[in-house]
Amino acid sequence: MNTMTTPGGAPRVVVVGAGVIGVCCAYFLARRGVRVLVVERERIAAGASSGNAGVIAPGHLPLVKPGRFWSLVKTVFRPLSPVYVPLRFDPALWRWLFTFSRQFSEARADEAMEAVAPLGKESLSLYEQLVREEGIECDFRRRGYYEVWRSASGPQEAAREIAFARRHGFRAELLDPREMLRREPSLREGLTCAVHHCDAATLDPYAFVAALAERARAAGAEFRVATGVVQLQVRDGRVHGVLTAQGEEIPADAVVVAAGAWSASLLRPLGISLPLEAAKGYHCDLVPSETAAVIREACVLAERLVFVTPMGHRTRLAGTLEFSGLDSRIREARWRQLSHAAGEYFQGVEQSRSVSKWCGLRPCLPDGLPAIGPAPGIHGLYLATGHAMAGMTLGPATGRRVADWILGRPSAAFPTPLSPARFA
Ligand SMILES: Cc1cc2nc3c(=O)[nH]c(=O)nc-3n(C[C@H](O)[C@H](O)[C@H](O)COP(=O)(O)OP(=O)(O)OC[C@H]3O[C@@H](n4cnc5c(N)ncnc54)[C@H](O)[C@@H]3O)c2cc1C
Repeated sequence: MNTMTTPGGAPRVVVVGAGVIGVCCAYFLARRGVRVLVVERERIAAGASSGNAGVIAPGHLPLVKPGRFWSLVKTVFRPLSPVYVPLRFDPALWRWLFTFSRQFSEARADEAMEAVAPLGKESLSLYEQLVREEGIECDFRRRGYYEVWRSASGPQEAAREIAFARRHGFRAELLDPREMLRREPSLREGLTCAVHHCDAATLDPYAFVAALAERARAAGAEFRVATGVVQLQVRDGRVHGVLTAQGEEIPADAVVVAAGAWSASLLRPLGISLPLEAAKGYHCDLVPSETAAVIREACVLAERLVFVTPMGHRTRLAGTLEFSGLDSRIREARWRQLSHAAGEYFQGVEQSRSVSKWCGLRPCLPDGLPAIGPAPGIHGLYLATGHAMAGMTLGPATGRRVADWILGRPSAAFPTPLSPARFA
């Protein structure tokens, strides 16, 4: 870390945002003896990190799949399709969608996976270590998850998925419908095939983030909630701290922007362009009726892009991508779509009781990859954002690597495709 001192014993590193990314950064910084303050506008895990599907899926690029683009485009303006773009005049969004549309080739998916696979593998083993060593209770299950198909094209898509996963060093196993039904008896008849993604885990994301924040605090990190950052303070090409909405200047030697879908607005006044779009997703938590079969295994419903994750005594249905900007309103019909989709695949969904209704904004960059590392041209400023559909999956590795960067020992193997400078 640089040697500048801050007056009055103020924290040396300020992390903006207490989602999974900010909390992981704070944890690893505090564990390395760095004085760290997390400044959060609302509360811990107020954004996408609390209610997501909780699947740690390092071998899975869920959206940017080769061959999927045109099937998505055909449905994109339909309010009830998995991906929805409400029609509006927004040139930045259309530019974003244009760049995004060019990511759906086999070669591009391989490049993207080469960049994120090492982080995903690192994260999976960090989760095992953190849960064990820190005694975190978050219903961590290391059983992988299943991708299930009902359409005739399922076996063909499954073969492609398996080849892709194996090419990048992940185990994936083809199952026939009978074997899948044996493993998960609450599925309905009519599957065409399934894939077991073995190198994956599930957890309760809120329980994990809240507990890790506690462990970070125990290691010396401070958290200031209900405090929005309105400006990053930069002079002579170096970050000096942050200004809060209450008008307080908090000095710092280094600042990490981990503000999820809201990160770009903090960077724009500094001339740093980050083409972030928010992709809204929903969850619906179900408690099964006493007579219904309990869903035991985490599944992704391939045709509907909906995750079904057992979490404590609930089952979480999560999914959909809605490009409606920084807007956190729940569209009732889109939320209901989750249980409709689950009902097509599972028995007993209609009799289950819904106990939670939620939406969150995924921070998405148009090449589908996060931006992690030093901000271009500003000494002491670091970005850790743009994790899109994989923020839980990549959180711990991102936190550890950001801490290493700040301490001046960046991992030699840090993948350049993730550099924030790629948009400069
Ligand atoms: C429905 C759904 C399902 C998902 N399922 C999965 C999954 O199964 N696996 C997976 O890996 N990922 C999944 N994701 C993606 C994952 O949730 C995100 O990638 C991840 O939560 C992003 O974390 P973050 O810390 O970057 O952002 P966030 O969690 O959004 O946190 C950002 C924080 O910054 C704060 N903030 C913003 N602006 C300011 C400011 N100016 N000052 C101070 N604080 C500020 C916000 O209040 C917020 O608390 C899913 C997402 C959704 C929506």
